[in-house]
Amino acid sequence: SWSSSDSVISSESIGEPPPPSSPYRVVLLGASGVGKTAFASIFAGAADSMDSDECELCGEVEVDGEAAIISLIDKPSWDSECDQNCPMQSGDAYLLLYSITDRASFLRASELRIALRRCRPAQHTPIILVGNKCDLVRRREVSPNEGRACAALFDCKFIETSAAMQHNVWEAFHGIVRQLRLRRDSKEA
Ligand code: GDP
Repeated sequence: SWSSSDSVISSESIGEPPPPSSPYRVVLLGASGVGKTAFASIFAGAADSMDSDECELCGEVEVDGEAAIISLIDKPSWDSECDQNCPMQSGDAYLLLYSITDRASFLRASELRIALRRCRPAQHTPIILVGNKCDLVRRREVSPNEGRACAALFDCKFIETSAAMQHNVWEAFHGIVRQLRLRRDSKEA
């Protein structure tokens, strides 16, 4: 099912922005149990989902008055050896999730960030570090300040969300589209 992404990869590798109608490939990364499936269901339930051969979970969202098509990739699998089919190579942007109730998942997010940098050293890839489950205040193991500091260190944006309460989930999707547009616009300029 990765074959449809070939054109996206090749256009990126020769430095051209994707045509406006092609979907942004947004990959959900993170340890098991952090809320990736919950994010995907919220997206599937509310984005203007489209029947498309191009992607499994494709939807149109409006951000700042302009429509954007997102192809959301959940639970990708990859090897430590990164090849072209690896989601670490083929995504346009990444939502890097951890659970604020699970410090191990926070450390895992750091590892994934480092792996991403290794896979795509030359590219400025939009990434948002997402601290999910912020509704579970009494089980918190990772403070907002730690999340923010980690994001600053890793040169990415930061947001806390609750998929259970549907809090800030759309802000995360909108944020990633805004970053993708900034990147597209700076390439066009
Ligand atoms: P995945 O393994 O990353 O896909 O994680 P899931 O989306 O399957 O979520 C794992 C568990 O955490 C499920 O029981 C979800 O209902 C729960 N969950 C996900 N997001 C939240 C959240 O924001 N708050 C709370 N309280 N539970 C959540």
